[in-house]
Amino acid sequence: MKQASILAQAGSRWDDKTGAVSMPVYHSSTFRHPGLGRSTGFDYSRSANPTRSVLEQTLAKIEGAENTRAFAFASGLAAIDAILRLFRPGDQILVTEDLYGGTFRLFETLFRPYGIEAKYVNTTDLAAVERALDHRVKLIFLEVPSNPLLNVADIPAIAALAKARGILTAVDNTFLTPVRQRPLELGADLAVYSGTKYLNGHDDVVAGVVATNRPELADKIAFVQNAAGAILGPQDSWLLLRGLKTLPLRLAKQEANALELAQWLSGHSAVKRVFYPGLPDHPGHEILRRQASGFGAMISFEVADPDRVPAILAGVKLFMFAESLGGVESLITFPAVQTHADMAPAIRERLGINHRLLRLSIGIEDVDDLRQDLEQALA
Ligand SMILES: *Cc1c(COP(=O)(O)O)cnc(C)c1O
Repeated sequence: MKQASILAQAGSRWDDKTGAVSMPVYHSSTFRHPGLGRSTGFDYSRSANPTRSVLEQTLAKIEGAENTRAFAFASGLAAIDAILRLFRPGDQILVTEDLYGGTFRLFETLFRPYGIEAKYVNTTDLAAVERALDHRVKLIFLEVPSNPLLNVADIPAIAALAKARGILTAVDNTFLTPVRQRPLELGADLAVYSGTKYLNGHDDVVAGVVATNRPELADKIAFVQNAAGAILGPQDSWLLLRGLKTLPLRLAKQEANALELAQWLSGHSAVKRVFYPGLPDHPGHEILRRQASGFGAMISFEVADPDRVPAILAGVKLFMFAESLGGVESLITFPAVQTHADMAPAIRERLGINHRLLRLSIGIEDVDDLRQDLEQALA
């Protein structure tokens, strides 16, 4: 079955007793044993819960690669944390240098003191990636496209470099989702998501996902999920399952809106530069044409006059000035002071996360209304 069919009917055939078309929310922490040494498959909800299991099976199916298993966590960062727990003091992790600020904070403030060291590299530069791969590197952690500059690493090429050296590859695929880019099929070992964003799509759940088609890695992630316990609860699992049903539709509309707005912004006199991989002159455009089936709905842009930023943020009427992304509602954010505040200013400047840069998450509103709103705010 194709993704859209899997998603539309996710959970709809679980309840044989009543025929419920909507997956029930199993608000039960514990489950009766049929007898000594026997189990229904559910014993205690940290280990497995039916609503979460159906969500996880759905996420595994849309990931595409055979034998994929998926695990739902309390947040995207909890999902990344579960991956990092597979490593040991002395291990190094090669990381996309311009990545989500919270991931940077996790690497720097929680894992570095335990001796797990992140090495930040421009992962759009294959030669730089290759140079950085010494014997201590055990994982390459890519964010594709990256947040907020939408740089695009070549996943098959990097996964092949890693594999040849016995190094694992993980891809944070939050921006494109398995509907547009499937890292495991491209050769990566782990895919990770902030389910808070496009997968859920309605700005009402914080969630995370790890998916892998390597059985030994799946067993380890399952162990961490149960042993450390950062699981997604049944109510949030249900909300995420409900959100997923419309993911292909939402994403298509969001992308169409984003392309139109990116083209329009590119010709605007108050705009210095637009970062949108769907524009043919974006350096990641050709790579995404090969490894993805769309370009997503995140746009970043530099304003010509940085002093205008506060007025733009105060002036938008339809776009909401808020962090996060991927929901049906359009948002605008100021990465240097919001999502990337934990990154050292010098690093931010070098990467281009400067005080001219604004980031848009494009929703499903009417594109003319969105354009008019930006027009009046930029004026
Ligand atoms: C939001 C985000 C995260 C963190 O996810 P949470 O659900 O907020 O914990 C990780 N990676 C990317 C690319 C994100 O946008």
